[in-house]
Amino acid sequence: MIHASQKICPHCGTLNKKEERYDDEVVALELLNSKAPFTCDVLKIIGEFSEKRKADGEPYKPLVVVHEIKRQLVFHVQRIWRVKRLDDKLYRRMLQMFHEKVDEWSRLTSGKKASGWLLTASREWLEAELIRVWKYQKEKEVV
Ligand SMILES: [Zn+2]
Repeated sequence: MIHASQKICPHCGTLNKKEERYDDEVVALELLNSKAPFTCDVLKIIGEFSEKRKADGEPYKPLVVVHEIKRQLVFHVQRIWRVKRLDDKLYRRMLQMFHEKVDEWSRLTSGKKASGWLLTASREWLEAELIRVWKYQKEKEVV
């Protein structure tokens, strides 16, 4: 039975207990990562969107999967890790996790590793989402 104070990520099924809440400014990243890891089944998302249609009946463009991965990652960090304040360290970690999944998507769909264009574009999409959700402001330039 899942207690009301516990939360399950609807995307990856990770369970987080109430006591594993992190409001601190310095996030215990490795602890969060080991107790409630972000998992994302890229192949499953590709399959889901290949069957879905937009409101106008048109199929989705392939890149919709990258945006869905981004959405699931942000949801997980916000609602399962319960991060209230995003710092540079967590930003870099999220970007790394996102790029790993974007690269996986690229290999699955084209057989090639993610292009420089895709890595740059997906980073910009993630940053826009982090600014929207956490009012995130990068302290230094991340390379
Ligand atoms: Zn999740």
